[in-house]
Amino acid sequence: MTAVRKVAVIGAGVTGLAAAIQLAKAGVDVDVFESKPELSALGSGISLQGNALRVFDALGAWDDIRAAGYPFEGLNLRAPGPDAPIVAELPDVKTGGPDYPAAMGMPRPALAQILLAHAQKAGAQVRFGVKLTALEDGAGPDDTVSVIVDGESAGEYDLVIGADGLHSTVRDLIGIEQKPEPTGMGIWRTFVSRPAEVVRSELYYGGPVYIAGYTPTGENSMYAFLVEKAQDRFAVSDEDATRIMLEESRAYGGPWNAIRADLEKGARANYTWFTQHIVTEPWNRGRVVIIGDAAHSCPPTIAQGAAQGLEDAFVLTGLLTSRDTVDAALWDEFHARRLPRAQAVVEASVQLGQWQIDGNRDADAGGLIFGIAQQMAQPA
Ligand SMILES: Cc1cc2nc3c(=O)[nH]c(=O)nc-3n(C[C@H](O)[C@H](O)[C@H](O)COP(=O)(O)OP(=O)(O)OC[C@H]3O[C@@H](n4cnc5c(N)ncnc54)[C@H](O)[C@@H]3O)c2cc1C
Repeated sequence: MTAVRKVAVIGAGVTGLAAAIQLAKAGVDVDVFESKPELSALGSGISLQGNALRVFDALGAWDDIRAAGYPFEGLNLRAPGPDAPIVAELPDVKTGGPDYPAAMGMPRPALAQILLAHAQKAGAQVRFGVKLTALEDGAGPDDTVSVIVDGESAGEYDLVIGADGLHSTVRDLIGIEQKPEPTGMGIWRTFVSRPAEVVRSELYYGGPVYIAGYTPTGENSMYAFLVEKAQDRFAVSDEDATRIMLEESRAYGGPWNAIRADLEKGARANYTWFTQHIVTEPWNRGRVVIIGDAAHSCPPTIAQGAAQGLEDAFVLTGLLTSRDTVDAALWDEFHARRLPRAQAVVEASVQLGQWQIDGNRDADAGGLIFGIAQQMAQPA
């Protein structure tokens, strides 16, 4: 017996697809509504920490994900300058436990395709190019919610899961006002080939940007990034974007020489701002709940954003498939298990960014990262 028989998931990102997989595997009738016309074939890479990998295993997707990514241990810190000297080699906490690598880099499109395939194999119906526009109390005799997409009714559901990201429509429709705010940092990212010497994430502090770095995502690929003061860069042309990444990275040698060579050959540069928010009130209103980036966001200073969305999906669907009813006790347990943990990640991630903005060189960044990692090592 499950607490729900028919569920609508809004958003086919990492969080929504993880929820869809778990519910469909338990025999729940799941419809996923995604406003984009299809999964993007373009995109940068992502770092997935052990606690995210542990959730992928529970979904049944770990073997496919491991085969498509680049597992690694540890983190190197390098200094600016032509030789890019390694100044520290830091061990990682295995946040997923001893059975998983400490972290893995992965191309985002590959991750999205794998999760989509698992959701469809489990029996979820995933509809693309369909935008949620309204939610209404259901017309059925039981407690249901009517889902309206593109102005038309899509049916009645026992539960609606809003996994619709930073600019969540579901969050607005249920009247939650806490939403993402800029943190003051912007990031340039590019997807390039992996020099043989890059076998783990490496970060450079000092020089013209707050942080320069890269993470391997496969035998032949990695993503590289430069974190700068947030500026209005959204209208810059592709050529200017490349030029800015080339100029801002000139202070960094070592593998950055190969990154610049790829940029000169046409690798695209993409810009976005970091945001932060945590919804501290309940994430549900009746039978509608938000999870993932809809409920919390943070700068990727400890690369935990997607991991937290995955944990939200895992904990919520675990409760829905092991209880008989959607009641106050279920929501109380959900919030008790998710809110403090997601809040700790958001606060630590924001603090790490703020120390950079403030130029605070004495702050115990290592201690903060280690403390959060130890917390994440406990299952969600
Ligand atoms: C620069 C940057 C780097 C990051 N790096 C990392 C990292 O290395 N590791 C990590 O763990 N996290 C990282 N994150 C965070 C991570 O990307 C997010 O936490 C994660 O992708 C959120 O997934 P989600 O499924 O909750 O939301 P999303 O991926 O945003 O998915 C939401 C989906 O909902 C759809 N949607 C929106 N509105 C509607 C609607 N009305 N109807 C239907 N569909 C709708 C959207 O089209 C979208 O596909 C990073 C974030 C940024 C900004």
